[in-house]
Amino acid sequence: MKNQDIFQRAQESIPGGVNSPVRAFKSVGGTPRFIAKANGAYIWDVEGTQYIDYLGSWGPAIVGHSHPEVVKAVQDAAVNGLSFGAPTEGEVILAEKICALLPSIEQVRLVSSGTEATMSAIRLARGATNRRKIIKFEGCYHGHSDSLLVKAGSGLLTFGNPSSSGVPQEFVSHTIVLEYNNLDAVQQAFNEVGNDIACVIVEPIAGNMNLIKPKAGFLEGLRELCTQHGALLIFDEVMTGFRAGPKGVQGLTGIKPDLTTLAKVIGGGMPVGAFGGRKDIMQHIAPMGAVYQAGTLSGNPVSVAAGLKTLEILNRPGFYEQLSATTATLVKGLKEKAAKHGVTFSADSVGGMFGIYFRSEVPTTFAEVQESDTKAFNVFFHAMLDEGVHLAPSAFEAGFVSACHNEEILTKTFDAADKAFAKVAA
Ligand code: PLP
Repeated sequence: MKNQDIFQRAQESIPGGVNSPVRAFKSVGGTPRFIAKANGAYIWDVEGTQYIDYLGSWGPAIVGHSHPEVVKAVQDAAVNGLSFGAPTEGEVILAEKICALLPSIEQVRLVSSGTEATMSAIRLARGATNRRKIIKFEGCYHGHSDSLLVKAGSGLLTFGNPSSSGVPQEFVSHTIVLEYNNLDAVQQAFNEVGNDIACVIVEPIAGNMNLIKPKAGFLEGLRELCTQHGALLIFDEVMTGFRAGPKGVQGLTGIKPDLTTLAKVIGGGMPVGAFGGRKDIMQHIAPMGAVYQAGTLSGNPVSVAAGLKTLEILNRPGFYEQLSATTATLVKGLKEKAAKHGVTFSADSVGGMFGIYFRSEVPTTFAEVQESDTKAFNVFFHAMLDEGVHLAPSAFEAGFVSACHNEEILTKTFDAADKAFAKVAA
């Protein structure tokens, strides 16, 4: 009962016993597993129980946990010092790599989390355009800075409280929240206040209200409207960057955002974030320009080493072909097992991300995903956990596959799903 003991202890010293809300299992009930170690596609809790991991640290673990080359890079960097507060060549190499991989990024600034990346990108967009308003979409989560914490996804959606208390109305009075995949609504907002809209920020494939893909023309329409009205288009690729494909969603669609935010994969499991884009916009950032942004641990040498090695591994031939094929096979197998047991279920994937939905059709909006049968998900989640498969503990989160999820692991997952769907059907 070690997980239970630690969880109880944790609640004395940490609010809710966790350092990020969704980890608490609040919506699915039960006790979170306290993880002792991870390797490849597996994690082990403090009781020594092994699980196939489809959480992947919420995205970063794309090459698999504790990849020996990444661990070695981290060890080598750590020996030379953990943080200097002065620039390093590694930061330059990572910046050059990101610019080379994502052509929309001409310059990039490293930070320590996705939240910092999006918060700073919004400030930059406002500073560069001298405008106040931003457009975001229902169910998209862009981290927990005040102006973005309105009708957001991820933990807020999981707990049925999509906007946070503690954010004064005045702070979000310039945040316009619209329905994902509804271009008419965006057009209307631009018609009304277009000359005061600094930017549109979007998860170009949403992964924080489960997985929701853009409808044909949606992202293209955003690009057009932004260009037409002098607003900046920000692709928040914190989750999709180097996860949905080798060049993120911008690579899959060919659409060029003005700014892009990154994190997760580019840190290889260590804390990193980044925002970058057109050089003329990035030149507004201090010390070149008047938009202030800074960080004690920004471009941390150990994080940079983990990120560089991870990017090197995932750019090896065949990496994404294998990852996408594995994820597609996973989704197909889960659908087959659900059908076998007559469970209403659908699923979708892109690159190394997937969505599972307890509803008959793959959703396209926040409202549709909310129609999912969360009770069925909770039964499925716990049954899978009992069978040794660790999924995200929420019906409203995407799942993640790594390069270490092989055929044998998929077969074990399908065996577990067979039993889990039987319980859902019962
Ligand atoms: N943006 C997106 C699309 C995310 O998925 C997340 C986190 O899940 C964030 C921003 C915030 O990143 P972080 O948790 O590193 O602050």
